[in-house]
Amino acid sequence: MSTYNYDYIIVGAGAAGLNLALAMNDDAFFEDKSILILDKEEKNKNDRTWSFWETGSGKWDALVSKTWNKGKVRANGETINLNLRKYQYKTLRSSSFYSYAKTSLKEPRFIWKTEQVQKIVQSEEGAIVSSKNDNYKAKYVFDSRIPDSYSLEDANYLNIAQHFKGWIIETESPAFDDSEFTMMDYDLKDGESTSFTYILPFSKTKALVEFTYFSPDLVSESTYDQYLKKYIKEQLKIEEYTISETEKGIIPMTNFPFEDFNQQYVIKIGTAGGWVKASSGYSFKNCERKSQNLIKFLKSNREFYKDSTPKKYKHYDKIFLEVLSKENHFGEELFYRMYKNNSIQTIFRFLDEDSSFQEDLKIIVNLSSSPFIKGFMRHLKSGLTT
Ligand SMILES: Cc1cc2nc3c(=O)[nH]c(=O)nc-3n(C[C@H](O)[C@H](O)[C@H](O)COP(=O)(O)OP(=O)(O)OC[C@H]3O[C@@H](n4cnc5c(N)ncnc54)[C@H](O)[C@@H]3O)c2cc1C
Repeated sequence: MSTYNYDYIIVGAGAAGLNLALAMNDDAFFEDKSILILDKEEKNKNDRTWSFWETGSGKWDALVSKTWNKGKVRANGETINLNLRKYQYKTLRSSSFYSYAKTSLKEPRFIWKTEQVQKIVQSEEGAIVSSKNDNYKAKYVFDSRIPDSYSLEDANYLNIAQHFKGWIIETESPAFDDSEFTMMDYDLKDGESTSFTYILPFSKTKALVEFTYFSPDLVSESTYDQYLKKYIKEQLKIEEYTISETEKGIIPMTNFPFEDFNQQYVIKIGTAGGWVKASSGYSFKNCERKSQNLIKFLKSNREFYKDSTPKKYKHYDKIFLEVLSKENHFGEELFYRMYKNNSIQTIFRFLDEDSSFQEDLKIIVNLSSSPFIKGFMRHLKSGLTT
């Protein structure tokens, strides 16, 4: 078994690893560095669709397949229109992102290897990554592997999952209004759970329709299928369609302390680094933001990387998680109040962790529901401990 040396190793060529590598590629500081990218997969399939919001033009515009200026939420039998104004909701196919990264991140600076990482051990002046075949040594390793100790069943933390299955369906004749996306439609739910349909209409004849849960329990494959079929037939009134693609996912929404797994030379990134917003499940845009934080850290003289997210957001996320994990039936009402009483611009800023305290208060007071306020009060009383 041989040992190879690099300046940096990125384990996982997913949203986080590639955002970080592409940010390094754009920065002259890394021009003379060697960066190994390791993934167990070839990354040549479209395994997900990433959506996010931002104002004006953005870094990934050339890869974005569709943008929307408006959206809607259906809850409590009401339609809440979302006029995004200066924001746009954008979507991109992961396959476009992977192939863009592959053509941009080239040797000699970037070396790609398809290997499963078995262990990472920190040493005195760096870390060693081992696969079945070889060892790789670097000063810093960025690791996208989710810690083994994370579990949806862990009662020590508030744990729910955003789990879903979606179909890209195509119809012969126009069936969708492709000028607006559906953030959440609660007209069809699985019992009392927080479950809804998310729709991205790419054109008048093609859309991603996804049946989604924010819930502590997972469901069988056939349950998603049953709700997808029912929604398409009864809500969208589409009788005939073809399914051109399927996507499935389980995204942790939790206050599990992923950041505690960071070591001096082994830094967790992506879902494994707690980069998923616990109350929304979004993380693509966070991967861009947090990669910039890491770049700043690497260029500084600081010894330890520390996430700079204001603590207050962890408390807000915890309050959402508390309601959704303990009173899952309340989800529709919770999101109804949030979207009904706040502008979508305020909500986006809140979810981007960029809102003012006044905006935070407005969101929380507007949610003036028993479980939510009870949760908020419990946290105030406990001195806002995480
Ligand atoms: C289907 C789906 C749709 C999503 N849609 C959105 C969305 O619209 N908007 C949004 O903001 N977020 C979305 N998310 C959530 C989140 O953005 C993604 O999960 C995102 O890909 C997380 O980035 P990551 O780098 O942590 O993980 P990944 O992108 O999954 O990358 C991790 C990589 O590590 C590799 N790997 C793992 N273990 C090893 C190992 N032992 N050795 C070598 N390689 C390894 C994997 O092969 C993978 O390539 C979605 C998630 C899913 C699953």
